[in-house]
Amino acid sequence: MESCIFCKIANGEIPSATLYEDEDFRVILDLGPASRGHALILPKEHYKDLYEIPEELAAKAMKTAKKVVTAMTKVLDCDGYNLVQNNGEAAGQTVFHFHMHLIPRYKGDGVGLTWKPGELEDKTRDKILAEIRKYL
Ligand code: AMP
Ligand code: ZN
Repeated sequence: MESCIFCKIANGEIPSATLYEDEDFRVILDLGPASRGHALILPKEHYKDLYEIPEELAAKAMKTAKKVVTAMTKVLDCDGYNLVQNNGEAAGQTVFHFHMHLIPRYKGDGVGLTWKPGELEDKTRDKILAEIRKYL
């Protein structure tokens, strides 16, 4: 993808604050961090989102997340971590090259990743289970 900024960053054509790199991924610090240490896992190949990325590579992204989060936690004095992966504009995706956010959390940091819990109604539950299970 010639015009994709994350393709250029992941493949080293544009310099970035790189924390880690292997044959499949580059892990960089986010330029607009939600918190101190906010990082992004970028596959070197272009896939728009979770729908497009091959299963194997998605699994490797999670392994990479574990590796990097473990290392970062030794250094950052964080109290927890959120892994966030947005798919589609409605979900807040702004760069359409698959990426996973690694967001260190600090007590009282005010980072907004929460929601107001709704209620799972019986009818909705049954419909969702019956319809989605057909595809699994
Ligand atoms: P998303 O909203 O999930 O698509 O996340 C895109 C993320 O990429 C945001 O957190 C941005 O701050 C970050 N971002 C965009 N451009 C760059 C860049 N050139 N270098 C590092 N991070 C970037
Ligand atoms: Zn790309």
